[in-house]
Order: sequence, then C-alpha cells, then structure tokens
Amino acid sequence: MSATLISENTFTAKKKHLCDLCGQHIQVGEKYKRQFCVDGNAYAFKMHFVCEDISKVYSKEYDSDGEGYDHNCFSHDVFENFEVVVGFKSDGLKYQEALKLFKQKWIEGKETKGIG
Ligand SMILES: [Zn+2]
Repeated sequence: MSATLISENTFTAKKKHLCDLCGQHIQVGEKYKRQFCVDGNAYAFKMHFVCEDISKVYSKEYDSDGEGYDHNCFSHDVFENFEVVVGFKSDGLKYQEALKLFKQKWIEGKETKGIG
C-alpha cells in the first residue's frame, strides 16, 4: 500500500500550519512545500523546505522511495544523525532543542560543505 503523489506546489503560508515532518509551525509568510497525495484517502502533506531536504537524504535509507516517510521517521533520523550533523551528542536534549540545532547546522552545512 503506497501513497500516490498527485501534485506538489510551493506556497507562502497565509496562516500558521504544522509541518508534517518536524511537527513545528510553518510561520505566516514562510514558504513551504505542499504535496497532495492519495492513499485510500486524499490528504495534503505540508513541510518546511529544510525538512523536505532532510527527508530526501534520509528517506533513501528506507525501501519505499520516501513514501511513508513521516514525523516518526523524521524525528528518529534527527537523533540518529545528530552527532554527525551538529558535531556533538544529543544527550539530554529535548526533541525541539535538538531539532532547532539540527536544522541550523543542516542549513549551514549546505552552504559550506554541501551535505546531500
Ligand atoms: Zn518542518
């Protein structure tokens, strides 16, 4: 059972949304990616650009070509790869804190080293 991607578009948030990958808010005025999928039911999958980027790299480790890569996979991968990306262990960090550092380093790493 796999989801079929119907369309993928970039939007500028007119109201707050929740990112379906990291679970944090997409702020008003922030650009985000929205995928429209059908998986028995039709649903919209919203995400930050950086989260999509992270998921693209790590979802390759799953069999499903990124399909079914959800919040649980994402948070797992943030902690799994935290030390590699951020440079120190995530011991004692809460998910929200770890996530913030992870995204920050991810974006910096992209700019300087080109992770992914
Ligand atoms: Zn996100």
